[in-house]
Amino acid sequence: MRYSQFFIPSLKEDPKEAVLQSHKLMLRAGYVRQLSGGIYAYLPLGYKSLKKLENIIREEMNNAGAIELSMPFVQPLELWKQSGRDKDYGKELLRFKDRQDRDFCLAPTYEEVITDLVGKNVHSYKELPLTLYQIHLKFRDEMRPRYGLMRAKEFIMKDAYSFDIDSGGLDESYRKMKKAYTNLFKRLGFDFIFIKADSGEIGGSYSEELMVISEYGEDKIAICNNCGYSASLESAVSAGNFPEPLKSCRQPKMTKLATPDKKTIEEVSGYLKIDAESFAKTIIYESEIGFIAAMVRGDREINEHKLKKIAEVKELNLAKEKDVENITCAPCGFAGPFGLQNIKLIIIDEEIQAQEYWITGANEKDFHMANVKPGRDFISDITADIRTVKDGDICLRCSGRLNVKNTIELGHIFKLEEKYSSVMDAGFLDEKGINKHFVMGCYGIGVGRTFQALIEIFSDENGINLPVSVSPFVVSVVSLNPNDENIKSIADKIYDDLLKSGIDVLYDDRKLSAGVKLKDNDLIGIPMKIIIGNKTIKENKFELSVRKTGEKEFYDNLEDLYARIKEFSLIDGFIK
Ligand SMILES: [Zn+2]
Repeated sequence: MRYSQFFIPSLKEDPKEAVLQSHKLMLRAGYVRQLSGGIYAYLPLGYKSLKKLENIIREEMNNAGAIELSMPFVQPLELWKQSGRDKDYGKELLRFKDRQDRDFCLAPTYEEVITDLVGKNVHSYKELPLTLYQIHLKFRDEMRPRYGLMRAKEFIMKDAYSFDIDSGGLDESYRKMKKAYTNLFKRLGFDFIFIKADSGEIGGSYSEELMVISEYGEDKIAICNNCGYSASLESAVSAGNFPEPLKSCRQPKMTKLATPDKKTIEEVSGYLKIDAESFAKTIIYESEIGFIAAMVRGDREINEHKLKKIAEVKELNLAKEKDVENITCAPCGFAGPFGLQNIKLIIIDEEIQAQEYWITGANEKDFHMANVKPGRDFISDITADIRTVKDGDICLRCSGRLNVKNTIELGHIFKLEEKYSSVMDAGFLDEKGINKHFVMGCYGIGVGRTFQALIEIFSDENGINLPVSVSPFVVSVVSLNPNDENIKSIADKIYDDLLKSGIDVLYDDRKLSAGVKLKDNDLIGIPMKIIIGNKTIKENKFELSVRKTGEKEFYDNLEDLYARIKEFSLIDGFIK
């Protein structure tokens, strides 16, 4: 492809709407453009790269024995009523009517359609196991689409669905898929980990998320490098700090401490020159059962996911400032656990229960209280683990240290069992002629998200830097002075030769300065450049420059140059 005839609308400046580096780069390099919030067009460069990524996914799915199909993006709402998920998805499910007044929706996922499809077309155990997959659009009407393709409304996913006769069969199908995911993400060069997850709206008995470690990931996980324990931060647990009880018979009474204008733990601990670990913070929440007070150590965060489970509530939000004032009889920032009005539950973390004395808010403006003793100065309703794991906490399994890392979720695999096949009554006749429901699994990969994650993780200060197998082009021929007939004819010849030998080559034939052209080729992330300039003519040497390492190789003849390019073009990851 000639650069001059291709469509690469690159930008000179970083676009303002983008936060993530990958999002900025995709816009700057002319890979994608936003049409409307969370709805993107893939431009030719991005599309070419996306198709290569899809084909690698396809290869791994096919190797695992899955069969590709394509299901409709527009789906009758009736199917969603059958499974009951029209309610679960709420406003994320975009609904509309056709001209005959029938209800439809845009597919947020495909469990209903595939279960219906297989239910109507597979009749006997002899046709099982069966794993089908597609790479297709989905639409979820996200409240806050952001970060480019990472959290878009319209997005591309690979979904595979397995159908088995029993749980043993499902285990085997699941194992195969997990293996395929491992191969795939290794090929793409990611540092990743599977973690056990909540199954969320998709449901089922067991699921694992494939998390890629990235500084800018939105999700956090805790990992123990010693024993391999890993969990999402929402559900991760650690050994708390449970000190031995003090031996002294002295029982100090609650003592007020003046803390003028000091509200946050940081401010108060700085002012009193006492560690945050000696404080207990009291946070007031509102829920459908009433107000809840929760306490954790001053240097910790409350894990709202755990708190919700312990309190057995569905809705949990920080109480409004006015409510906090009524409950504590003090302005926000001075809450303590005693004398609270109109509180339904007081839930304290295990660490709070375990230590004898704490500094808390005094429920009075500009005062905190020292020597607050659980059980004596206030009574809690529940003691439980409601703290969020911190970097450096002790692992509950092995007493190693836990690390908290940011991750991007790129895949999610589920054992659905009979969740969908039973509500939709989809099944087969077994060996004895008895009707059975399919035992199902489902396996997703965020394709657009994986694409952006590659850019996020591997880009450098010069721009996008994709693995060779996913780059829009493998090599570019950059003619530094296209007005020079000699240079032009050599560059033309190399371009033609490479095209003929099936190499995906970009020919930068634009009449621009050498500096601009070299920069652009790095920005859009072509793994190799053949640079043709005066030096090529004078010294009769061909220069091959590797994007990732910046290394240059020189060749006396074209055969050797082509052989090297051929060799590099077959690499899955990066040229090292
Ligand atoms: Zn451990």
